[in-house]
Amino acid sequence: MQQYTNYPLLQHNTFQMDVRAALYVEYNSVDELCQFLSSTDFEHHRNRFIHIGAGSNLLFAGDYNGLVLHSAIHDLEVVEDTSEYQLLRVGSGYVWDDLVAYCVDHKLAGIENLSAIPGEVGASAVQNIGAYGVEVCDVIDRVEAIDLQGTPRIFTKEECQYGYRDSIFKRELRGKYIITHVVYRLMKSPAFKLGYGDLRARVEAEGDPTLDAVRKAVTAIRDSKLPNPKELGNAGSFFTNPVIPREQYDTLKSKFPDIPSYPIDETHVKVPAGWLIEHVGWKGRALGHAAVHDRQALVLVNKGGATGAEIMQLAHRISQDIYAQYGIRIVPEVNYIQ
Ligand SMILES: Cc1cc2nc3c(=O)[nH]c(=O)nc-3n(C[C@H](O)[C@H](O)[C@H](O)COP(=O)(O)OP(=O)(O)OC[C@H]3O[C@@H](n4cnc5c(N)ncnc54)[C@H](O)[C@@H]3O)c2cc1C
Repeated sequence: MQQYTNYPLLQHNTFQMDVRAALYVEYNSVDELCQFLSSTDFEHHRNRFIHIGAGSNLLFAGDYNGLVLHSAIHDLEVVEDTSEYQLLRVGSGYVWDDLVAYCVDHKLAGIENLSAIPGEVGASAVQNIGAYGVEVCDVIDRVEAIDLQGTPRIFTKEECQYGYRDSIFKRELRGKYIITHVVYRLMKSPAFKLGYGDLRARVEAEGDPTLDAVRKAVTAIRDSKLPNPKELGNAGSFFTNPVIPREQYDTLKSKFPDIPSYPIDETHVKVPAGWLIEHVGWKGRALGHAAVHDRQALVLVNKGGATGAEIMQLAHRISQDIYAQYGIRIVPEVNYIQ
């Protein structure tokens, strides 16, 4: 276990916020985590702590005057192997994209569309990461966690209550459980999902679809569309796409005929937040050192030296303008850490 005070977090958040944590603790095993949770150091910080992964969905408002916990549990084991699937039990600190690479190399299907998403395994189960028509909950079998008293609990997929970029760990159980392992069910026969954007065209240009071809195509599309956080600090999509009643959408459509939507159920539709941001004129615009990316309106960027407060202010201005024009409230997907 490593423990540091006044610890720099610059390498631990993709928005490139140069902030510090009063205490930073990284544990290597479930035993080490339980040991720390029963320590006086944890007792002192019990009311002010956050567990981070790779910090790719966080925005620190400033220095964090509390405890930052991080998992360095990196194990990966096959816990069940049948003719149809393998269950992989993976440590929460395992890098997500390394897991995708492992699965593609071992001909295990299900997460190839989620290639190149930053972050770690623990957060994948908190965030219900998704891309190109796939959500990680499609392959999650169960989630292993520890409560703050050190008691283990296994959550079935149903108990995780997954929704769009949502889970019980983001709501009722936020800050109450630490995820230590995730068990994924990966299939031996791929069921390719290529219906999103130009994925099919890209994959089929290389011949019959393979897991490797999908991974390469998804990675190439993402590289061409999204700013690399190492070059331009960002946390991917800043806002979730708002879900609104169909009636409200129909009224808007009569006023703004181009407004796009995706059906959710009989009474609700999802409106792309990027379209709304672009149509209130924020795409490519800056506010101080914070800006809206010029190719991808859903991504807010740190142009260099921005503070968390500046990014939050920009986000606030954008949502105000969208509400004024469309009557739709957009909410950040990114977790504000204050
Ligand atoms: C360039 C870019 C592109 C992105 N593209 C996508 C995309 O296509 N789809 C998508 O869904 N997301 C995307 N994201 C967002 C991000 O990658 C995901 O949300 C990812 O799951 C965050 O992982 P992380 O390890 O960085 O978690 P962090 O950002 O560190 O934490 C996220 C949340 O998980 C909690 N958490 C982390 N680890 C644990 C744990 N072990 N136990 C309990 N709670 C924990 C944290 O407290 C926090 O609430 C993108 C981000 C970037 C920068």
